[in-house]
Amino acid sequence: MIRCEEVLKHLYEYIDRQLEGVTYSEIEDHLKQCKYCCKHHDFEIELKNLVQRSCYQNKAPGVLKSKISSMLGDIQPE
Ligand SMILES: [Zn+2]
Repeated sequence: MIRCEEVLKHLYEYIDRQLEGVTYSEIEDHLKQCKYCCKHHDFEIELKNLVQRSCYQNKAPGVLKSKISSMLGDIQPE
């Protein structure tokens, strides 16, 4: 299995379907088995959705914002 740092390094590429250097199945297998990376992956998906929604609505829904804040822990979004 590939390492967490490899997965996190390629996470954006994986989400954007522009993966280079590792295969999709390598990332997928890791995400299935690793809660840490899975959480990061879910967070990036939420963030992407949030950005897309705020582009359309010009403001982020409060529920999603607080959800992301809690996922981030002590790191607060801008
Ligand atoms: Zn991992």
